[in-house]
Amino acid sequence: LPTRFKDSSYSVWVEFVDLVASHQPLNLGQGFPDYPATGYIPSVLAEVAGSNNNAFHQYTRGYGHPKLVNVLAKLYSKLIDRPINPMTEVLITCGAYEALYSAVAGFIEPGDEVIIIEPYYDCYEPLVRIFGGTPRFVALKNTAPKDTDEPTTSASWKLDPSELEQAFNEKTKMIILNTPHNPTGKVFSYSELETIATLCKKYNVMCVSDEVYEWLVYKPAKHVRIASLPGMWERTLTIGSAGKTFSVTGWKCGWMYGPDFLVRNAVIAHQNNVYCFSTPIQEALARCFEKEIDLLDTPNCYFQSLPNHLLPKRDAFMKTLVDAGFKPTIPEAGYFVIADWSSLAKRVDLSSEPDKEKDYKFAKWLTKNVKLLAIPPSAFYNKEHKYLSQENLRFCFFKKDETLKEARNILTNWK
Ligand code: PMP
Ligand code: GLN
Repeated sequence: LPTRFKDSSYSVWVEFVDLVASHQPLNLGQGFPDYPATGYIPSVLAEVAGSNNNAFHQYTRGYGHPKLVNVLAKLYSKLIDRPINPMTEVLITCGAYEALYSAVAGFIEPGDEVIIIEPYYDCYEPLVRIFGGTPRFVALKNTAPKDTDEPTTSASWKLDPSELEQAFNEKTKMIILNTPHNPTGKVFSYSELETIATLCKKYNVMCVSDEVYEWLVYKPAKHVRIASLPGMWERTLTIGSAGKTFSVTGWKCGWMYGPDFLVRNAVIAHQNNVYCFSTPIQEALARCFEKEIDLLDTPNCYFQSLPNHLLPKRDAFMKTLVDAGFKPTIPEAGYFVIADWSSLAKRVDLSSEPDKEKDYKFAKWLTKNVKLLAIPPSAFYNKEHKYLSQENLRFCFFKKDETLKEARNILTNWK
């Protein structure tokens, strides 16, 4: 029988989760904390799961459990300073993944072009192709000088406005934006977002804004929601994730919000795909949000306090990388760090690794020989541009202090 996806292979996540199982390295790969980052959340889920209220154990409203859409509408209405209708302008999905899927499924048809900024979260490209769309790639440029010993930040990854404009044309239907950005940690500035917004309006293009790391921003960087820019609400679907907001990636609850006439198309895709997301998870999340919304702008708000929790981990791990000979880029957000390993190349013999890309070879060699696993960032580029990231690795630092200490020991003892 014909094989539709014959040119595709397993994603980097499938491959690297398998490597963890077969080589048992210290895992700084896939992004998740290796400890419960907040105490009360599992108990809220336990309370819901143990409840004999049958409604929590049956299907809920297809487009989102009422309690959850209500609290999310309340939260984002405040954050983007406009009223959001919980029933028509919010959709609850199976993770941010399904929100992305439904957004693309709802709009992209063969012949449509979709602009994707590289490096990009790896599912964007195959997702656009599944629906017959054509991705157009624009790569962020790392403008930091290669030969400096000064620390550089993810702000040095820049979008070239004229290159971006060249990607727009009459076939462009959508741009997929990711801010704060995985894997670099870049937080798009107001003026970069204005450039994107101006082009979206000029070429009548919609924006899918993946903002799953919206709370994980280190000062002085500041997250700006592109939907709040003039004229952008009408053309933007914004995506969030409970996995990132409450550090519970296994809950797999995501959402999108936007104007009803855009959300509607994603809703059609969603209702014929999963119909509704898990009820007990949605009920538990709604209870967590109800608690946090009362604490908003206080130091006790869980997701607002996350950057303070993560900052010492980020800085300690940056030092580990520098001491081990890597050249990391300080992330302004998120819990990943991109680090250049080129000065370590002389210490490794990659000839036994059959992969095509050098960063894959290095990541696998490190897993097998040094017992430390990180992600090869060429997974976040299309095949013509993979060479741009051959000398980098992506590490996740949302880990117990002991895990980060162990990483330090491993890298210091690696001869
Ligand atoms: N977008 C980005 C940028 C991500 O890093 C991730 C991984 N969490 C997702 C989307 C998917 O999120 P979820 O786990 O909620 O499906
Ligand atoms: N978003 C997470 C990361 O970038 C998890 C990815 C995944 O498991 N698909 O590591």
